Amino acid sequence: MTSNKKHNHEDAHSHLPSDPELRVKAIETLLLGKGLIDPKTLDELIDTYENKIGPQNGAKVVAKAWVDENYKKRLLKDATAAIRELSYQGRQGENMVVVENTPEVHNIVVCTLCSCYPWPVLGIPPTWYKSDEYRSRTVREPRKVLSEFGVNVDPQIKVKVWDSTAELRYLVLPMRPLGTEDMDENELAKLVTRNSMIGTGLPENAR
Ligand code: FE
Repeated sequence: MTSNKKHNHEDAHSHLPSDPELRVKAIETLLLGKGLIDPKTLDELIDTYENKIGPQNGAKVVAKAWVDENYKKRLLKDATAAIRELSYQGRQGENMVVVENTPEVHNIVVCTLCSCYPWPVLGIPPTWYKSDEYRSRTVREPRKVLSEFGVNVDPQIKVKVWDSTAELRYLVLPMRPLGTEDMDENELAKLVTRNSMIGTGLPENAR
């Protein structure tokens, strides 16, 4: 009886689409069919998160903090308010905390529970950020994970792991690269990579 039940359960599941994209498509078709969503609104929403909101926003925050000491102070004290000064706000960015990399500390952000991520400044999270592997290993062996991303942290430098949640979203303020003294804010922003703001990367080297 029990095994039979189990079999039926598995059987039912095998008929469901396993691919998340397929599920999303199915839901979208249903909602459109029922007239619950407007295709134009949906396209605009996708366009916003794919093209308008992305790591380029976070890069501007970082570059401003690099050139403006007072802004940096505000950013470290109340990141949500300081980021809002640049008009970046909204869903998944209501409670931001910025953690600063220094010669003594390297910060890395993860969401161990799911995939909490600061959308207004980084856009949509990369696939690896949502993976079980990244979520579990970053806490257990952060230095190893970092080295796999090509970031080799000196043993003397402390690695701090920050667990993002629905309540708090972290953004890393990377160190300004050497040799960028004569660069302006716009030029500096181009050096700020997405991964450098998650902690799994470093800013690009100045040429
Ligand atoms: Fe999460």
